[in-house]
Amino acid sequence: MIPVVDGHNDALLRVWRNGRSLRDRDDEGCLDLPRMRKGGIVAGFFAIFVPAKDGAPPDPRSTLVFTADGYEVPMEPPLPFERAVRVADELAAIAERDLRLVRTFAELERCVAGEDDAGAILHLEGAEPVEPGLGNLEDWIGRGIRSIGIVWSRPNAFGHGVPFRFPGRPDTGPGLTPAGRGLVRACNELGVMLDLAHLNLAGFRDVARLSDRPLVSTHGGVHARCPIPRSLVDEELDAIRDSGGVAGIVFDSVMTHPRGELVDDAPLDQVLDHVEYVAERIGVEHVALGSDFDGAHPPRALSDATRVQAPLEALRARGWSEDELRALGHRNWLRVLGDTWL
Ligand SMILES: [Zn+2]
Repeated sequence: MIPVVDGHNDALLRVWRNGRSLRDRDDEGCLDLPRMRKGGIVAGFFAIFVPAKDGAPPDPRSTLVFTADGYEVPMEPPLPFERAVRVADELAAIAERDLRLVRTFAELERCVAGEDDAGAILHLEGAEPVEPGLGNLEDWIGRGIRSIGIVWSRPNAFGHGVPFRFPGRPDTGPGLTPAGRGLVRACNELGVMLDLAHLNLAGFRDVARLSDRPLVSTHGGVHARCPIPRSLVDEELDAIRDSGGVAGIVFDSVMTHPRGELVDDAPLDQVLDHVEYVAERIGVEHVALGSDFDGAHPPRALSDATRVQAPLEALRARGWSEDELRALGHRNWLRVLGDTWL
């Protein structure tokens, strides 16, 4: 088995909603510790994501609006700061209760070497729980946060997320706010990884200009294979390469489908085509896996965390070498986090 570092999951949100534990197998979801171990996921980014409302997630089909050439989902309004802090605190408490947090590069190396049990890299998906003046940023770092996604797909105090829409490009509005530019500088200084998934193109360009660390998008597809705003355009891929960064490819049926459609039997090849596009355009040193388990609709061949060796085996059959598969599975993450964390 090739050790896998996974770029993104929403398992904490699932457990926050259903009251179970990540220590036990929970077939309501896709990822828990027993299934990480079985699939060879040695470490993963665990998102702290604050939904607009408590309770069951809304069915995206209920808000889908059909347009002349596709569809769009109306964008959510900004999240109130008080709610962001309260819910993020509850999700962080679940992580502390159930998971072994990876706080240092040495800890991550031990996970990859198999010397430690599966580890969790705590990630804020959307910086809403951070005060715009950054007064509580170091509190979150003390709590274990090692990665911050500046925005989710909604506006916040730091920048603007892209809408869910087909077709569309990510150049959808202004770049980072002054608070967003301050967050980039602070994360550079404090050794926190910045995640550009969900960010619009103007914001991406701002980070590329300001940040002195590798550029990272943890979970998404590429625009050349699925033309939605969430996908990375070639300009973004090239900037990721030039910075020594990495693009994690999502295991999502919709975001990897050529027309952005949700089909019941999306083939594994659909995901692999995005992986290979990145590898061919910017090099195998700049592509990784970012499942989005429990936040996406994976193809059946990738239905849960036990299946993450399947894309590696399929790429081996497409001619990838062991060395290339190790780069994809974990080595690119090790390089990027080694260059980013203090
Ligand atoms: Zn996401």
